[in-house]
Amino acid sequence: MIKHRENHQNLGSFAVKYNSEGKRICQICDKVLLPRCSKYCSNACQHIMLVRHSHNFLKAEVIKERGKVCEKCNLKTNDLILDHKIPIAIGGEEFSKDNVWLLCKKCNKEKTKKDMFNIAVERRISVTQTKLEVKADGTTTDGIPSKTKVLGIMPNEL
Ligand SMILES: [Zn+2]
Ligand SMILES: [Zn+2]
Repeated sequence: MIKHRENHQNLGSFAVKYNSEGKRICQICDKVLLPRCSKYCSNACQHIMLVRHSHNFLKAEVIKERGKVCEKCNLKTNDLILDHKIPIAIGGEEFSKDNVWLLCKKCNKEKTKKDMFNIAVERRISVTQTKLEVKADGTTTDGIPSKTKVLGIMPNEL
């Protein structure tokens, strides 16, 4: 069970939402709030907000759903890292359950290496793209695949 007060402190940076009549409404479902609730109508809405804005809560949620097991090598361990399948640095969604998985230390280390490579490729292509035109088939005028093509093959390599 989540302690009410603690969470309000964690998410203190979010502004209170108001409806057109100036009444305070829930951050998640837009329901008008009771005077005793500061930002959410219920614990359920507060939990949704936390999962969407905190890696720790998102990780806890994913562990609850998928178990304490590495999603790559199936190792059962308490030492799991919440990794972004598509790194945030190249446009992966930060708080999407579809873009995260639980990895053991070893798999995370390997994945990080791949991420570094992909981020480097992405940066190089962004630089190249400013000078080259992308053709309809996804290649650039000098034959190098465009950004979208490179990202398209990524998930299979993971
Ligand atoms: Zn709500
Ligand atoms: Zn693993």
